Amino acid sequence: MTETTASPAELPVLEVRDLHKSYGNLEVLKGVDLTARKGSVISLIGSSGSGKSTLLRCCNLLEDSQGGEILFEGEPVRWRGQGADRHPADAKQVTRIRTNLSMVFQSFNLWAHMTILQNVMEAPVKVLKRDAGEVEQAARAYLGKVGIADKADRYPAELSGGQQQRAAIARALCMEPRALLFDEPTSALDPELEQEVVRVVQSLAQEGRTMVLVTHDMKMAADCSDHVIFLHQGLIEEEGPPDQLFGQPKSDRLRGFLSSTA
Ligand code: ADP
Ligand code: MG
Repeated sequence: MTETTASPAELPVLEVRDLHKSYGNLEVLKGVDLTARKGSVISLIGSSGSGKSTLLRCCNLLEDSQGGEILFEGEPVRWRGQGADRHPADAKQVTRIRTNLSMVFQSFNLWAHMTILQNVMEAPVKVLKRDAGEVEQAARAYLGKVGIADKADRYPAELSGGQQQRAAIARALCMEPRALLFDEPTSALDPELEQEVVRVVQSLAQEGRTMVLVTHDMKMAADCSDHVIFLHQGLIEEEGPPDQLFGQPKSDRLRGFLSSTA
């Protein structure tokens, strides 16, 4: 028998085809495509309200979508129902996808009552049922990677915003996900703290992590990503390599957006 299917390594980590998403009567995504290949870093840019966070949340199934397909390593999300009644059909698949597309939020979302080390270890031990000793070793290594190994036994409130966000990145990494999804990871930070997080994201890009990055920081998008998508009112208005998008924007809307962020 001849097998023509691509091996998992060649399949995109994440693929979104013609995604539609509404909140009630408000259509937020109107047919969006996105392909994140292994090792690629995609930045999503666009005005506030253009649908960036919604797209990210649909990708890891934190939000339902009403049309289109989402594929994780070539495996399509299985749905039951249609349109407004469409929901993922397979809870195990949802967990697998969600734990493999680890999300880093603007507001860090660390647990205040746990130490940094406990925060990083919590999901791998409790959700993935990994061995606590091994997870602790990995967690300490990831805290070292993001430059806060010495904060392991501190509580979130004892850390600066930049340190808390780096802890949140270590926590996402400790899930050993196939891709990281960042939603404006620097926008809650003071400018001088933003850079420490940008540097961590940049180092992850350099080591070949697959990432989708929503950011308001065009320099971060240019420095960290190899593909940029400009969303406008729920549609991709323009996309391409950062040099092209930032250097030679074609659409008036993108030019207008870039001059408003400069
Ligand atoms: P962005 O991240 O690009 O700023 P969002 O994806 O957060 O945009 O929002 C896109 C649109 O969807 C906005 O008009 C926003 O008000 C709306 N929206 C986002 N989340 C919800 C929600 N939970 N319920 C209703 N409307 C929402
Ligand atoms: Mg947003």
